[in-house]
Amino acid sequence: MHGNIKNCPAMPQNFGNIKDTTLEKAVNHLDFKKYWNLTKDNIEICKDCEFRYICTDCRAYTERTNNNNDGLDISKPLKCGYNPYTGEWQEWSTSPLKQKAIQHYGMEKII
Ligand code: SF4
Repeated sequence: MHGNIKNCPAMPQNFGNIKDTTLEKAVNHLDFKKYWNLTKDNIEICKDCEFRYICTDCRAYTERTNNNNDGLDISKPLKCGYNPYTGEWQEWSTSPLKQKAIQHYGMEKII
C-alpha cells in the first residue's frame, strides 16, 4: 500500500517505496527472498500432514507459534482448520488455539 514494495500486500516488511527504490534494489534486499526456500516440510504441523505437497501456504497469517534458527516464522498457516494427527477438519476461526494470533492480526471483526 502507498507504493511500498512487498512480497505480498499482507506481509509486514517492505523493501522500499516505488517512488525512491528500484525493483532491482528491492529484489536484492537480503530479506526479499528469505521465505523462498521454505517448504511445507519445514512448517510445523504441516510437515506431518498428508496434504503438504498439494497445499498452498501463507506466511502473512500464521499461528505465530514457531520460529526457526534463522528467525523465520515456521508456524502453521492461521486459516487452516485441519489437524493431521486426528484427520479432523474444524472451523479455524473459532479454535481457542488461534485466538491469540487472530487478535495479533486484528481480525476479530472480519471473521
Ligand atoms: S491442510 Fe493445513 S495442516 Fe495440512 S499442509 Fe495444508 S495448511 Fe498444513
